[in-house]
Amino acid sequence: MKNISVIGSGTMGNGIAHVFAQFGYTVNLIDISKEALDRGLATIGKNLDRQVAKGSLTEADKAATLARITPFTDLAQGVSQADLVVEAATENVAIKLKLFQDIDAAAPAHCILSSNTSSISITKIAAVTKRPGQVIGMHFMNPVPVMKLVEVIRGYSTTDEVTHAVMETSRKLEKVPVEVNDYPGFVANKILMPMINEAIITLHEGTAGVEEIDTVMKLGMGHPMGPLRLADFIGLDVCLAILRVLQDGYGNPKYAPCPLLVNMVMAGNLGDKSGKGFYDYANPKAPVVAERFRKKELV
Ligand code: NAD
Repeated sequence: MKNISVIGSGTMGNGIAHVFAQFGYTVNLIDISKEALDRGLATIGKNLDRQVAKGSLTEADKAATLARITPFTDLAQGVSQADLVVEAATENVAIKLKLFQDIDAAAPAHCILSSNTSSISITKIAAVTKRPGQVIGMHFMNPVPVMKLVEVIRGYSTTDEVTHAVMETSRKLEKVPVEVNDYPGFVANKILMPMINEAIITLHEGTAGVEEIDTVMKLGMGHPMGPLRLADFIGLDVCLAILRVLQDGYGNPKYAPCPLLVNMVMAGNLGDKSGKGFYDYANPKAPVVAERFRKKELV
C-alpha cells in the first residue's frame, strides 16, 4: 500500500490523513468544499506544530508530512490511484451508501475500501459495491494522532487477505489493530455507549450530580475522563444516534436512550461542539448545565 485516499477532512479525516502522511504514505484528502479542506489542512498543521514543540517530530518531518497530502474536491479524481480508501465523511447512511457506490466506480480494482464509521453496518456498505470482499471497517479513535487503537471490522463478506492487509497497515502507523465482527456498535461503542447512557440515567434519577458521577468513574475506575465529560467530547447527538443503532440492531430495551439525553439533543446542547452539554464550556465556573434538569428537582 502506498497511495491512500481519505474522504472527509473533519475531526477524524484530518487526523487519519495526518497519521498516514507522517508514516510516509502519499495521501489524497477529499472533501466537498475547498473551505472544509483548508480547515482540515490547518488543523493538521497545528497538530504537527504540537508534535514539533514536544520534540517528537522535527520541522523537516513536519514539512515532509504536509507535502505528502494533496487536497481534492473531485472524488473520482481523488481515489483514481488509491490502494486504500479510508472514508471518514459525515455519519449518515445515505451519504455513505452514495459515497461507496461512487468510490467503487472510480477506484482501481485492487483498492481496499474502508470506512471509519462509528455505527453503520460494514456489511450494508459493502453490499452497494461490486467488491464486498474488499470492504472493511477501520475505526480510528479520536484524537487519531494520539489514540493507539484501530478497531478493524470484518463485514459478512470481507476476505481474510483484506483483513490481514488492513491489520498490517494499521501496525505500520504504530497503531494496535483489533479484529472484530460486524454487529451493531462493533465492540467499542457496544460497551461504551451503554456506560455513558447509564451515567446519564444516574444523573437523571438524582443519584448524584455531573461532577460526582465523573469523579467516581475517574478516581474509582481509573478512567482518564468521566463518562459525562466524554459524552460532551464525543457529541451528545453522536451518542444518541449510536444508542438508536444498538436499540434497533439488537431490539433490546436496555439500549433505550435516557430521556434527558434525548431532550439535551433536541435543545441543541450537544457538548463541546455547541459550547454546552453536561458542562458549560463558555463559562467553566458556572454550574454544569444539566444540573437543573435532574429528575429529583423536577418532582
Ligand atoms: P465531521 O463532521 O467532523 O467531518 C465530516 C466531514 O465529511 C466534513 O468535513 C464534511 O464536509 C465531509 N463530507 C460530508 N459529505 C461528504 C462527501 N460526500 N464527500 C466528501 N466529504 C464529505 O465528522 P467526524 O467526527 O470526523 O466523523 C467522521 C466519521 O468518523 C463518521 O463516520 C463518524 O462516525 C466517525 N468517527 C467519529 C469519531 C469522533 O469522535 N468524532 C470517532 C470515531 C469515528
